[in-house]
Amino acid sequence: MAELWMASGGWATCRKDVHSSCLTKTYTHIESTLCRGDRTTPQVALARAELTTILLARRLFTPIHAIEDAALLVEDGVITSVGTRAEVRTPPNVRVLDFGDSILAPGLIDIHIHGGAGHDVMEGFDESLAAIERPMTMHGVTSYCPTTVTARIDDTLRSLDALGAAVKRAAGQNDGTRARPLGVHLEGPFLSHAKRGVHPPALLQPASRELFDRMWNAANGCVSVLTIAPEIEGAVDLIAEAAARGVCVSLGHSDSDLAQAQAGISAGARHATHTFNAMRALDHRNPGILGAVLTDKKVTADIIVDGIHVDPTVVDVLIRTKGVEGVVLITDAISATGMPDGTYLLGDIEVQVHDGRCESNGRLAGSVLTLDRAIQNTAKFVQVSLQNAIRMATFNPARVLGIEKQKGTLSVGADADITVFSPSGDVVRTIVGGIVN
Ligand SMILES: [Zn+2]
Repeated sequence: MAELWMASGGWATCRKDVHSSCLTKTYTHIESTLCRGDRTTPQVALARAELTTILLARRLFTPIHAIEDAALLVEDGVITSVGTRAEVRTPPNVRVLDFGDSILAPGLIDIHIHGGAGHDVMEGFDESLAAIERPMTMHGVTSYCPTTVTARIDDTLRSLDALGAAVKRAAGQNDGTRARPLGVHLEGPFLSHAKRGVHPPALLQPASRELFDRMWNAANGCVSVLTIAPEIEGAVDLIAEAAARGVCVSLGHSDSDLAQAQAGISAGARHATHTFNAMRALDHRNPGILGAVLTDKKVTADIIVDGIHVDPTVVDVLIRTKGVEGVVLITDAISATGMPDGTYLLGDIEVQVHDGRCESNGRLAGSVLTLDRAIQNTAKFVQVSLQNAIRMATFNPARVLGIEKQKGTLSVGADADITVFSPSGDVVRTIVGGIVN
């Protein structure tokens, strides 16, 4: 990547100093340390200019549209111009990052991830989240939904308290090195016994507004996704309540028949969790939940494309039925991600990891998939372009969360969360909130 400065006169010297000393620091740091000794330049004005960057690349995926010979202007962490090089004006004193034949895309968003680097999001410590969030950026992920598993209620509430605080904190600070949590994904305890996967059966609960309220309050309202089986007692009522609060209600871990799934969708469910996994199978006379998920246009569906959870042909089935606009790639990654084979924890559940396969008592227990790999697998397994595979991990999950104007898109006014891919789909660089490290 070529990096150069478009600067002139007295600015040039000053900017070089900045380049070598404090580019990677936070805004506050830049404002307080920039250009010491330069008496003629107002510090704040310089700091603001310093944050103006233009990114150039052979292609850009918005991801709905592709732009050739692209330019993207970032000011104060926000995208302020996108287009071809000829279209985007280059202000004076701007930093230019030329990524050559690479591709600019929105930062990836993982709405279902339990952990990584030996840590689980339920541990409840900022150090644990930091350990998980740093390697996520190496895989192109700029934001995510920390995902819980069914655990003892007190433990769950404690975890939610920490995760809610982490979401609030991340909204206000960013050093560009960590993927940022957007809101919690509650996977459990409102799941079907028949399709519980590895969730502990004794800890599953009937759907309860009262319990949901306690979880909501513990997380300080920072709940983005609720996975629920629509057939369990109280589910329809809770689906309506959660949807009314703006939560994306997702059908999953479910043995429901067609009518029960349709009732859940009518109540407000609009997504499906790791489609095909922990879900009643499709039968031609008894289509069940999959009959509803695959045919209802209001419902989007996510899937784990690691080559283990679902056969590649079934990935094709999902994309053909839902269209590229209706599919979301997730990892369902656990603490073992990025670690050697061995025994790890998913919540409180012991998981054995061998050759990329995570199992607990013979059942699949999450994955060690990364989202960049999920994109590559999708483009490889199915006749889907890299652009559309990237869409399934950027714009589509943002739309599920209702934040597609702010994230998952390279458009004016959106956050400067940017992932740079090589032409073959490898992550070259990840930029969180406009901070280039
Ligand atoms: Zn999961």
